[in-house]
This record gives sequence, structure tokens and C-alpha cells, in this order.
Amino acid sequence: MALPTDALEVPRFCGVPTFMRLPQPEAPDGLDVGIIGLPSDNGAPYRTGARFGPNAVRAMSVMLRPVNPYHGDINVFETLKVGDLGDAPVVPGYMLESLESMEAALAGLADRGVVPVAIGGDHGVAIAELRALGRRHGPLALVQFDSHTDTWDRYFGGMRHSAGTPFRRAVEEGLVAPERSIQIGMRGSLFRKTDLSQSLDMGYEVVTTDELFEAGLETVGERVRRRVGAHPVFLSFDMDFVDPASAPGVGTPEAGGPNQRETLKIVRSLTGLDIVGCDVVETNPLFDGPGQVTALLAATVLAEMLTLIALARAGR
Ligand code: MN
Ligand code: MN
Repeated sequence: MALPTDALEVPRFCGVPTFMRLPQPEAPDGLDVGIIGLPSDNGAPYRTGARFGPNAVRAMSVMLRPVNPYHGDINVFETLKVGDLGDAPVVPGYMLESLESMEAALAGLADRGVVPVAIGGDHGVAIAELRALGRRHGPLALVQFDSHTDTWDRYFGGMRHSAGTPFRRAVEEGLVAPERSIQIGMRGSLFRKTDLSQSLDMGYEVVTTDELFEAGLETVGERVRRRVGAHPVFLSFDMDFVDPASAPGVGTPEAGGPNQRETLKIVRSLTGLDIVGCDVVETNPLFDGPGQVTALLAATVLAEMLTLIALARAGR
């Protein structure tokens, strides 16, 4: 079993910073989970720079330790074989070519039974992930944390692929089962009155940030489980779900969201799901705060997702 470098033996600042200091295998064979960077910001309608997200998240992930005390002291890496597979090749400035390349890289994992845990990149990468996984598993349940629905149709005179469109395209392409899916965290001003209802019209359940706090953060896990059931799930976490005071380094900041502590509480509540793939997207280190707080939180959310997968594998 290939374990991460132990920070009690070798200081965190030593070595090549793979995700959580995991080994970097040349091929995914034999892994349960593969960490993969998707460094495309071709879909960014506002700030570019998420192409630097994967390595910024990796750099802060050296802070994370293998045992998770929030879930019965489970050691993720004694339960799952995990490796950092580096980044999918992308083509800067070329959205469609990048999507094809990322899909091919992700399909290479899915076809070997390896669960991809992806680091974005802007949210436009999600359609590549859903194509690779939806074609293998059938229409997936989507659990999306985001302050935006990302179900718009077109941008800038007809562009069908951007960070604002993947979850409309995914339904059109039969990759997501909207009746099993839920979008959580929507808030802020709208382009059109229909920005939220367009998701409802497609069949998604939508939970706004206000509804989230009114219902209580402790209710999120149960609400998600009720919606998803035993369906295979893709979990997508846009860092702009978080308040920009807690996570400033994102592509499209939206005032008035959950803080870091509240965010982690929510993610930790998502037990009991059959996660076949997940991501944390929209980390943009060019706009991060001192201390790289956004990258640190993104890494921590990814580690919590790994824990959720490990718990399911361990039957807990
Ligand atoms: Mn998004
Ligand atoms: Mn967003």
C-alpha cells in the first residue's frame, strides 16, 4: 500500500508537492481513487487563472494529515489506494479541444474502475467529467455546491460551453438525472429573473444559501440522501459556494455565503452516497488571500471527499 509521506518523518516543505504528499504512479492500474488536475480556465466568463488551481491546491494540501477525527479516526489511505496522477493535458485558449482531452484522461480512469477526484480548473471542466463518467455509469445524480446554477444556455453570442453551462449540457446529453440531483448554495443577483427557475424547469432541486441556513446546516446531508438515494453520484464543489471573505480566490465571487467552518460541516454530512467521481473547482490562486486560504480550504474539502469515499468502501 503506497502511503503519503509522513510529516512526522519528513518535513512538509520537502519534496515534490503532490496532493497530500501521495505517491505519483505512472499508471492508474490498481488504484481505488486517482487525484487528477484539470487545469483549464478556457470556460471562465470573468477571472482567468483557475488553470493554476490544481498546483495551488496541491501546495497547500501538504498541511493535511491522513487520519480524519470527524469520522471515527478513519485513515483514508489504509482504506483506499490513492495516487496523484498529475494533470490532464489541456490546450490553453481552446475549450472544445481541452474538453476532449480531459474527457479522455478521465475515461482512462473510469474504465479501470478508478474513481476520479478532480481539481479544477473552472467549472466548465464538469462537462468533460460527466461525459467520462455518465457514459460508464448511466445518468448520474449530481450534487452541486455553488452560488450559481451553471444551467445557462449560451454565453457571448452562442458559446455552448463555459463555466456557466455544464449542468444544462449534462441534462441535454443524458449524463445527469435531474430528478436525482440537487444544487445547493445559490445566492446573489441574477442576470434574468429565470436564473434559478431554469434549473427547476430542467428538473433539478435547488436550495438557496438562505434556505440552507434557515433549514439548518445539519439537515443538508439528510436532504441530499433523500434526493439521491442509492443512485451513483457525481459531487461537484465550486469554491464560490463559500463566502468570499473565507475564500477570495475564485473565478466569480458572490457575497454572503457560508464560512470555512460551516462549509466543512456541510461536506462532512454527506455520508452514505455512492460517489463515482467528484471535484473541487474554481480555485484561482491569482486572487487568493494571504496564507492561501482558498487553496487550503479547497484541499481540505477534497480530503473530506476522499473520506466520504473511504467510509463507503469500508461500509461505514
Ligand atoms: Mn460553478
Ligand atoms: Mn459559481
